[in-house]
Amino acid sequence: MSQISLLSSANSLSRVVLVDKSSYWVGLDVGGTKLSISLVFENDEPLNLGYMNLSSLSDIRDAASQLLGDFTLKDANGIGVGVAGWISSISKSVVFSPHRPELVGVQIPALLNDSSLSRVVLENDANCAALAERDNSWGPLSVIVNFGTGIGMSALYQGQLFKGANGFFGELGHCYVGGSLLCECGATGCLEAELRSCFVSDQDKAEIAAEKKRRYVMLGAHGVSWIIRIMNPSEVIVGGGVPLGWDSFVEEISAEVSRYFPSSHSFVLPKFKAATYKEFSGSVGAAILARSIFN
Ligand SMILES: [Zn+2]
Repeated sequence: MSQISLLSSANSLSRVVLVDKSSYWVGLDVGGTKLSISLVFENDEPLNLGYMNLSSLSDIRDAASQLLGDFTLKDANGIGVGVAGWISSISKSVVFSPHRPELVGVQIPALLNDSSLSRVVLENDANCAALAERDNSWGPLSVIVNFGTGIGMSALYQGQLFKGANGFFGELGHCYVGGSLLCECGATGCLEAELRSCFVSDQDKAEIAAEKKRRYVMLGAHGVSWIIRIMNPSEVIVGGGVPLGWDSFVEEISAEVSRYFPSSHSFVLPKFKAATYKEFSGSVGAAILARSIFN
């Protein structure tokens, strides 16, 4: 057995563990702007290999190869691919991807130059993130909301992914929140489009940046409050790129959400948590999914 010692930093506790280097599953997260890659080994230890900007899908194979280093797709037991888009549970393909429209109808295994189609599984990136963040010690219904280029959402009920009738569950970002901004999905006034208008740029003066952040938290909390009212989750896990650049985001959004639930209401609010694997939730979850299927 070929072993390597691995510095695992899951749950904020760094520790050295031994893994069997010859047996692994690869997870790729093809997001709106970047590709992230993680591995999962036989003993369930994840290893995050890094991420790169991905300007074109034609770059995915070279980017994956570069990030994988000594590991290869060819030698993996299975490959999970998380995609920022709507995956049909019937056709097992990308039906719609507002941020990566070129993914629609593409054979992902061919894109990866993987000769064995049967070793690749495709899943929505938020669903992958939920699998990575799954914790059996939590309550019965966990919801994860990823605030990134778009808004991803997924739910785990009794530890199992809730996917809706056709795999289109949790499109929170494309719910109408008002306004007239055109969303990449083709509709106007989507939560996602309104949130994106609040992204702070380097050119923004301090007061403009502060106002954009305030509005982002208000709108984000608006969306999360819908989830809470409709689903009554036990946990809301906050992930995605936005919280990473904004240390107090989770606290701010949970405080804002509580304003939608006045104390006169007898409603138990969920616990709020930051995603453990941060920007690698999607790729870790994709590898976990591959492991559960190609074992
Ligand atoms: Zn939309």
